[in-house]
Amino acid sequence: MADSSRISSRALRVLFAAAEADPIIKVGGLSDVTGSLPRALRSLDPAKTNGRPLDVRLVIPYHPVIRSRIPSPQFLAAFDVPHPAGPIQAQVFLTTIDDLPVYLIAGAPVDAFTDAYSQDMHLNGEKYTFFSLAILEMTRAIGWRPDILHAHDWHAALAVYGLKLRQEDPFYRDTRSILTIHNLPHMGGGTERALASFAIPPAHDARLPDWGNYQPLPMGMSVTDYLSTVSPTYAQEILTPAFGSGLQDFLQMRAGTTTGILNGLDFERWNPESDKSLVQPFDLQTISLRAENKRALLNEMGLSEQMDRPLLIFIGRMDMQKGVDIAISTLHGLSDLPWQAIFLGTGDPGLQEAARALEAAYPQRVKVSIRFDGNLSRRMYAGGDILLMPSRYEPCGLAQMIAMRYGCVPVVRATGGLRDTVRNGYDPASSNGYLFAEATPESLGAALRRAIADYTNQTGWTARQMCGMKIDFSWQQSAQIYAQLYTKLSRN
Ligand code: ADP
Repeated sequence: MADSSRISSRALRVLFAAAEADPIIKVGGLSDVTGSLPRALRSLDPAKTNGRPLDVRLVIPYHPVIRSRIPSPQFLAAFDVPHPAGPIQAQVFLTTIDDLPVYLIAGAPVDAFTDAYSQDMHLNGEKYTFFSLAILEMTRAIGWRPDILHAHDWHAALAVYGLKLRQEDPFYRDTRSILTIHNLPHMGGGTERALASFAIPPAHDARLPDWGNYQPLPMGMSVTDYLSTVSPTYAQEILTPAFGSGLQDFLQMRAGTTTGILNGLDFERWNPESDKSLVQPFDLQTISLRAENKRALLNEMGLSEQMDRPLLIFIGRMDMQKGVDIAISTLHGLSDLPWQAIFLGTGDPGLQEAARALEAAYPQRVKVSIRFDGNLSRRMYAGGDILLMPSRYEPCGLAQMIAMRYGCVPVVRATGGLRDTVRNGYDPASSNGYLFAEATPESLGAALRRAIADYTNQTGWTARQMCGMKIDFSWQQSAQIYAQLYTKLSRN
């Protein structure tokens, strides 16, 4: 059944494939990218894409948890996904995010658990192997053949791998692939049995360590036409043993076809001037009104209205990657300084417990919310003074960009995309935050002491806030770089 498209046949067809996309389903920053970059690409001026408009579409699994959120998706087709024990039926539905067509893939392995991800890697393996193979079958079933398959992270990496296995098939021969790595250590380890159950052959790539031939992300990396990651600095870091997760040698060999493109931010969705979650919208001209958001947030969280103390915020997955343990230890050691703090995040039970213990130690100063709450996060970006982001590694990081857009000054570790977006300096007019080098409480503590001292100079602080608010972190520039890459790779 052909899917009707009003876009010119000359349009370059790009299919994004990922596990999550905001606002349909959001677990982390991946969804911010897949929910916004395709729309930014679709609205690029064709003059900037060699005169060819980009017909970008997105495919994600039809996770059971999102079914009630999409009232009446359009059924497009049912088709089979090959499996040694007999084909598994898949269905594809169509919905939209604004004007972006989004395909939703359903089938028994997707139905096996409710959320986007399971704790059980075998179940994840079955779901995402099925999803990846179904993407390829879907393009044929709906008669929409992409020029570029742009897959994201391990969950869709086997679509790229499967595409290579089908290169003799005329339907797939002219489709080129890009695989974007949002988080290298998450390679899909633990899914080997699931891959074998679908009879996916290992990669047999001598450039990979042996285990890499059996895990989805390196398997996709071994065959994709182009590799990208989400910031220039992270693209360099992953060439080293400290960040390469065992794939640094392979990545060095692929350096000529790897690039680092900084993620952008959806400037419409993240806009303090029009954000409906805020008590008091504001912009650069009305930044003095921002204080009302801080007051309201302190009240909401049950903290006293100490407006002269900086309000520190942490928003993110409670994971060792994010250095939440470093933030907690640092605050235990800085009780001599004036600050209040709010933590919002979910994840590792031990880290959640450590955050709660900090709250118990300083009940007047610290509030911890162990949940995922998009609206609260917005009120925190708008009311917090300082964002703590002491990541051990950070492929790009969106929280620091959102914070800057909302006038919250980030204190971040100098790694990956944090290094590419935060400028440290003594002149507040040209610096938008604070960088520190080591993933230790001492290093964060020293930067935080400096920030807390600077906070007392309100004129300088406002200049720093405004410096961050003025930066254009929108997709405009990066979307053009992706568009050039698509044009370069495309066969048609
Ligand atoms: P990552 O992708 O590694 O999780 P990023 O900084 O790139 O980290 O993106 C995280 C995104 O998820 C940001 O938009 C952040 O605001 C949001 N986020 C993370 N945890 C929560 C939470 N508990 N509640 C609401 N939003 C959250």
